[in-house]
Amino acid sequence: MAVVEPLRVFFIPLMSPGHMIPMVDMAKLFSRHGASATIVTTPGNEPLVRPSVAGSSVDLLLLPFPPSAAELLPGGRENLTFMPKSDHARFFDAFFALRPSLEALLRARRPDCIVTDTMYAWTADAAAALGIPRLVFHGHGTFPQCVHDSLHLRGTHKKKSEEESFLVEGIPDRVELRKSEVSSIFQWEAALDFWKEAEEKSFGVVVNSFYALEPEYAELYRRKPGRRAWCVGPVSLANCKGSTSIRSRGGNNNNPEVEHCLERLDSVGTAGSVVYVCFGSLNEFEPEQLDEVASGLEESGYGFVWVVRNSGWAAEEGYEERVKGRGVIIRGWAPQTLILSHPAVGGFVTHCGWNSTLEGVAAGVPMVTWPVEYEQFVNEKLICQVLGVGVGVERGEAGAVVRKEAVAKAVAEAMGGGREGERRREKAREYAAMAAAAVEEGGSSYMDTAGLIQELREFRAQAQSARP
Ligand code: UDP
Repeated sequence: MAVVEPLRVFFIPLMSPGHMIPMVDMAKLFSRHGASATIVTTPGNEPLVRPSVAGSSVDLLLLPFPPSAAELLPGGRENLTFMPKSDHARFFDAFFALRPSLEALLRARRPDCIVTDTMYAWTADAAAALGIPRLVFHGHGTFPQCVHDSLHLRGTHKKKSEEESFLVEGIPDRVELRKSEVSSIFQWEAALDFWKEAEEKSFGVVVNSFYALEPEYAELYRRKPGRRAWCVGPVSLANCKGSTSIRSRGGNNNNPEVEHCLERLDSVGTAGSVVYVCFGSLNEFEPEQLDEVASGLEESGYGFVWVVRNSGWAAEEGYEERVKGRGVIIRGWAPQTLILSHPAVGGFVTHCGWNSTLEGVAAGVPMVTWPVEYEQFVNEKLICQVLGVGVGVERGEAGAVVRKEAVAKAVAEAMGGGREGERRREKAREYAAMAAAAVEEGGSSYMDTAGLIQELREFRAQAQSARP
């Protein structure tokens, strides 16, 4: 009997933790489904990616920047973490300049498929020229994508003033947004058109979500003529279950604050009594805002683990002493999925990045939603309004400082909240069970992954037989 060659898939992530982490997880997922998976990244990102593929069968290929492109990199940095927005355009230009090297690599290695970030739209043509199918990875779920489709198509927000609310048209729920809550990527009209065109030329879209989380949106999203999409997530859950590697996932294992945090959580007697607070990998709050978060958490009376990314900020004198034994501050990188899945954790204050949203869902904890930018405001609508597992922090006008009273109130509601709070927790547990079921053998995400790999195999077989 002929041996079927494993499907060879190259994954080319956008170098920002919120896009890189799920794509690495997805590569591991494909590999567990029998594919041969390779991450393609740049040498400067090797120290980040190498530890996260260690112990798995995922390979790593490095694509150096040609000297002309390396000059474009802001401060020589090859990753978006903490890069000021004003430098982003140069960063993307530098990555665009990788195109000839990537094409040469694809020509030489001829993978059976590439999975690339939406923002690397140019890879669609590179792949098409070689007859290699490309899958798009947007980094978020079908709900935000349907909302964005509607805004892109109808431009409803364009006619509104900053704080004016409007109804998102053409989606199953009555969702209202303020113009100030529309993702700033809508300012890049030309880029959006380019991404859309590239998506149309691609084999399909691979989505880090699961069907039962947003069934009507998964259907609506797939209904667009010519678009095909596979929901394969939560990819963090598909890979990390039962694994100790999540302890170090993407982070530093040597941070004593992390060890202290894990010990502290282990010692907490009451399940669900600690709130985990993290605003993602990119966002930095001003010191005034951090002061309010600090006071709000103290006022809430709950135990907390709070990830603070601003290295320059220090709490007022006496604060850490006052919250000692109750609150832990982690400066730097926290093992988020590990913390969230700890039984002591009963709530999550989140900036509503898609990965955090999905990780909160998978952990089965209610969320306090505090979106800051991009599609996070849309994700908040999903969490609070559609799923009913979140409490929005009171924020006032766009950009206003959120006061400590608002922080304490939202945390108290999510962690306690009487009968309504109990209902929210119950729903959160139900969604977590659905997430776990989706990635189990035979579950919807498992079947979508298996089906996608099978289709790609068939595509390869057809392409091979059509070759003279
Ligand atoms: N993350 C983490 N530790 C941190 C901060 C973030 O593990 O201290 C992970 C988090 O689990 C998630 C990703 O980084 O997988 C952040 O992605 P998300 O989409 O939530 O937000 P972004 O950082 O892109 O705004």
